[in-house]
Amino acid sequence: MRRNTRRVMAGDLPIGGNAPISVQSMTNTDTRDIPTTIRQIKQLSEAGCELIRLAVVDQEAALALGKIKAQTKIPIVADIHFDHRLALAAVEQGVDKLRINPGNIGSHAKVKEVVAAARDHGIPIRIGVNSGSLAKWTVDKYGNTAKAMVESALEHVAILEALNFNDIIISLKATSVELTLESYKMIADIVDYPLHLGITEAGTPFFGAIKSAVGLGAILSLGIGDTIRVSLTSDPVEEVRVGWAILKSLGLRQRGPVFISCPTCGRTQIPLEKIAIEVEQKLSNLTKPLTVAIMGCVVNGPGEAKEADIGIAGGDGVGLVFSKGKIIRRVKEDELVDALVTEALKLEKEDD
Ligand code: SF4
Repeated sequence: MRRNTRRVMAGDLPIGGNAPISVQSMTNTDTRDIPTTIRQIKQLSEAGCELIRLAVVDQEAALALGKIKAQTKIPIVADIHFDHRLALAAVEQGVDKLRINPGNIGSHAKVKEVVAAARDHGIPIRIGVNSGSLAKWTVDKYGNTAKAMVESALEHVAILEALNFNDIIISLKATSVELTLESYKMIADIVDYPLHLGITEAGTPFFGAIKSAVGLGAILSLGIGDTIRVSLTSDPVEEVRVGWAILKSLGLRQRGPVFISCPTCGRTQIPLEKIAIEVEQKLSNLTKPLTVAIMGCVVNGPGEAKEADIGIAGGDGVGLVFSKGKIIRRVKEDELVDALVTEALKLEKEDD
């Protein structure tokens, strides 16, 4: 069962309070380069990203946010370290959420200014705690532990709560899956603010995707988590694809195809790996939930994948297109991919 959390809004995107768990990412362009940043935001949005964070490194970057907002529909998060003037400028430019740690802003007067601006514009603040940059006193007292992560976050939370500001989202990201899991479990018992999940600096696409799936999967399966960001050393579009794959694998969200393909065996007589990759690429832009099977043999394939909405099974020179275990077409091997794509596109266009 999902943990019950408060709901906050980032633009028109609800986070927490049983809203669908959203997939977010961060641009890796220079925010001051507006056309390039907008191009990447569009790519991320097409891939299914629902909230996009942009680094705000100086006033020029903060002032670019308004122009970027004017050309995109997706909610924008301003990522700010330390400088409250950048936060104020970002809020004025119309961002939908701030990522800033109040304890790092400086004087109380500066914190009050940022909180007042966020309140006036109705935007939430994410407190982002990272294992690599914990408050020194927490590490001295608790070491590099979940307790230190949680206490660091609660210190920031207390600053906002003292100003009667509760539009808060919290993240507790570590590079260690175990530490991340323990931290989220601990804080979930203490506060009811929505939680943004992530394994920080997870790595390159292969290892980072696995690490993120293991870590976020474990946390999500406990009913904890309201929005996720996969961090990969890669094109951020990959982060969005991995994020969706995690949510779809757990049955928490549906979007586009879920692929089933057999591992191949001595009965396989078609180049299944090549076919599976080609089908996945050709159907990657579909948005309607669809289970697609790519099976290696006509004898076992349709039966083994009978839950699939659409599928193919290869034989010796010929293959079958099937739906829910029933054969609907018989085609030549080199026409299998096109036949499957045609049938999948028909299903995408069908009314629900
Ligand atoms: S579907 Fe056929 S080819 Fe694929 S693993 Fe099963 S028996 Fe082997």
